[in-house]
Amino acid sequence: MDIQEKITKLRKEIELNSYLYYVEDNPKIEDYEYDKLFSELEKLENEYPELITPDSPTQRVGGISEKFEAVPHRIRLYSLENSNDEAELKKWYERVMKDLNPGAQISLFGGSHKTESDIQLACEYKIDGLAVALTYKDGKFTQGLTRGDGFIGEDITNNLKTIKSIPLKLFEPVDVEVRGEIYMPKSSFESLNKKQEELGQKTFANPRNAAAGSIRQLDPKITAERDLSIWVYAGIFEGKDAPKSHSATIKRLKELGFKTNKISVVKGINGAIKCIKKIDEVRKTLDFATDGVVIKVDDIQSQNELGFTSRVPKWATAYKFPPEAVWTDLLKVDFQVGRTGVITPVAILKPISLAGSVVSRASLYNFDEVKRLDIMEGDRVLVKKAAEIIPKVLKAEKTDASKPFSMPDNCPCCHTKLIEKENEVGLWCPNKDCSDILKGKIEYFVSKYAMDIEGFGESIIAQLIDKGMVKTWADLYELSLLDFMKLDLIKEKSGTNLVNALENSKNCKLNKFINALGIRLVGKESADILCRYFKNIDEIKKASLEDLNAIEGIGDKMAKNIYEYFHNEENIAIIEKGLELGIKPENAYTISDNLKLKGKSFVITGTLNEFSRDKAQEILKSLGAKTPSSVSRNTDYVIAGENPGSKLDKAKSLGITVLSEEEFKKMVED
Ligand SMILES: [Zn+2]
Repeated sequence: MDIQEKITKLRKEIELNSYLYYVEDNPKIEDYEYDKLFSELEKLENEYPELITPDSPTQRVGGISEKFEAVPHRIRLYSLENSNDEAELKKWYERVMKDLNPGAQISLFGGSHKTESDIQLACEYKIDGLAVALTYKDGKFTQGLTRGDGFIGEDITNNLKTIKSIPLKLFEPVDVEVRGEIYMPKSSFESLNKKQEELGQKTFANPRNAAAGSIRQLDPKITAERDLSIWVYAGIFEGKDAPKSHSATIKRLKELGFKTNKISVVKGINGAIKCIKKIDEVRKTLDFATDGVVIKVDDIQSQNELGFTSRVPKWATAYKFPPEAVWTDLLKVDFQVGRTGVITPVAILKPISLAGSVVSRASLYNFDEVKRLDIMEGDRVLVKKAAEIIPKVLKAEKTDASKPFSMPDNCPCCHTKLIEKENEVGLWCPNKDCSDILKGKIEYFVSKYAMDIEGFGESIIAQLIDKGMVKTWADLYELSLLDFMKLDLIKEKSGTNLVNALENSKNCKLNKFINALGIRLVGKESADILCRYFKNIDEIKKASLEDLNAIEGIGDKMAKNIYEYFHNEENIAIIEKGLELGIKPENAYTISDNLKLKGKSFVITGTLNEFSRDKAQEILKSLGAKTPSSVSRNTDYVIAGENPGSKLDKAKSLGITVLSEEEFKKMVED
């Protein structure tokens, strides 16, 4: 046998045994035998390095990367709509039935195959991990991306290759894109935390965070040391041999060598509810975290008929198991003022132990929520706490001690008379210098998903505001070591740390900086979206309200807030001061430069032959174009399908270029 043949044979044997061990959990040889095969292959490859191929089992751990490259997804990764209880689940099913079967009574005569009892639903574990998309060409693993925002992910191929349940080579040479959830088994999570503790390193709050922290390591060696695994839950096959149902897809993926999510096909919603109950009974005994059950319409033709909203598929829903909750006494309703100036009611509770910590306060969010829950002081309340989330009151029951509380007239912090705002719910503190508002703003600015500046705890921020040393976030960057040493408990070393933390934060990501500004309604996700459309702060400043409105994922109210924020002199002055003091926000989404239709605006009218309107819009958006629904002077192109509407006339009257479906196809082709 020649060397090449020998190597091929060894690789096949190793792959098969690795599959039996990591995917099937059913090893057929002893560990030492496996190790022997592996070292034999390594030895041969060392002797004949020209015979090494990237899909060889010895090549799972690659070199260190400098950063993860942002790469657009070929097909968008949607999120799922949640159902929090049986009623919401039934509502979802009703909508599915209505959409699939507009003339519902017809089915009674047996004319339709979609009667209530026989919509096939696939139920599977909702795994609490990280979604990834893996591409296979000719059966070889070529690229793996994180979900990112669903449109653009990060290329983590090298790290994914270290996960042994991800096949580098499939059993057949097919092209397929699969989606799966990367997770860390509960047992591995516990031993990892123990190890981290021993090494004096940061421990992880839950298996999900541990998996996320492990997969985003620039050095794949570290990822390889962490015990990560995958459950594959979807596959996109193209061509006429593509499976016709979700369950058939999963079966096919399993045949190809993937570790697939467990799936049960049931009839109708009652079948799904039964299945959920079964899963709820066993889930605590599983070695991976599940927080619910995903329910999908099994038939792919029906899935296509149902389609998507702008955010989620209509043919699937994620049933969430109710969180852990405990009853306690509500002693008193207190008020606090947040960074936006809005007054929030807070429940002061008889302390209870919940989800691993003692809880004595819970958010009541706003006065509408208080009204909805009919909350009074002295009630018995059901309090829920999920990991990393502020405790929340779910339900209230009256007792003999229950009595209504009165609304505050003045700000609990600065005692300014509270006001109501037009078009806004609730009471507001109108005092711009209210120190709790300033504290809230700075706390938000330094927080993890914003500028992520370490060391600025509540007490330091409180002192900086109370001593009048800081009025805006930009002022932070003027503070010197001497300034910090004026604060209680700050010595030279801790002061230097604070100065350094500020200095380090100057080279920040644009999305984090935008989030840090605290524009109302603009959070982490919307900041990411803005970064895909605008290169820098200057471009956002120049954007018209219409530009902002046309962006997918930016609602009308949010667009208005962004526009107003960047047309307020005070805000601009603060941003300019920050930039002058050295903040350099860098846009991580460099990819947008390559989008060939970036900034162009397309309106579609009439019916297209080859694409649904959603699909056409999705293609355009993936190339950076905007797709507003109506024609205006800012429209660059109108795509006219069959039976175009008045939009075509308007386009002609405005002299806008009209494209046929053919021309559109040419334009978006590679
Ligand atoms: Zn106030």
